[in-house]
Amino acid sequence: MAHIRSDEIVASALRTSDAGVPDAENALRHGVAVKTIRRWRRLYQRQGLPRGQAHLTARCPRCDGADLDRQAYAELFGWYLGDGHITLGRRGVYALHIYNDLAYPVLNAHVRELMTRVKPRSRPHTREVPGCLVTTVSWRHWPCLFPQHGPGRKHDRALVLEPWQREVVEACPADFLRGLFHSDGCRVRNWARRRVAGELKRYDYPRWQFVNHSADIRRWCCEALDLVGVPWRASSWKTVSVSTREGVARLDELVGPKR
Ligand SMILES: [Zn+2]
Repeated sequence: MAHIRSDEIVASALRTSDAGVPDAENALRHGVAVKTIRRWRRLYQRQGLPRGQAHLTARCPRCDGADLDRQAYAELFGWYLGDGHITLGRRGVYALHIYNDLAYPVLNAHVRELMTRVKPRSRPHTREVPGCLVTTVSWRHWPCLFPQHGPGRKHDRALVLEPWQREVVEACPADFLRGLFHSDGCRVRNWARRRVAGELKRYDYPRWQFVNHSADIRRWCCEALDLVGVPWRASSWKTVSVSTREGVARLDELVGPKR
């Protein structure tokens, strides 16, 4: 994958070039390859691409054949299905918002990273609503990547996976599950007392639960669990539970802690 430079470095290199500094010297000063300087000059000086508009002009994996970071996509898709939504703003630009508990700063930083991996060079912004952090990136192409976007709530509509999405999710089921379980899942600790050889012992039974009102999303969750070999059962009409010791351990490993 191409290395992503910060806008500041690009801007500084272009200013240096505008000032007449040769490409080789400019490359040295900014710690990049000469061909990178040439590419930036081609893009911004000759083709007149507006600087600082990268957040709107990023190429789309669906419309323009841009590369898609499949692992980041699979996970972000899980987050979107759990706690995300897309709104239409001005001039046909959509915004993807992911909601997550304020109590998990590491995961919130991770969501920002996922967004910039799916939309390179984007700068997610965040705002707080009671108890939650909302992370947002604007892009015309969010509906291309998340065609499940539509009017009304996700669980009131039939959702269909496009073939290319199914391919990505099947190639990266653990990433998809990480997004799903961190957004709409929780790890709960059940316990029970049992008398063993006359002695009362306490047993902990941790389990993972995924709760979602959409039968389609629950089915995709179960299919991904099948792919990673984690046994599950439907413990209520809206809940998928993983409760075998091996299944919980495997999911702990794949999903990681909430933090
Ligand atoms: Zn597109």
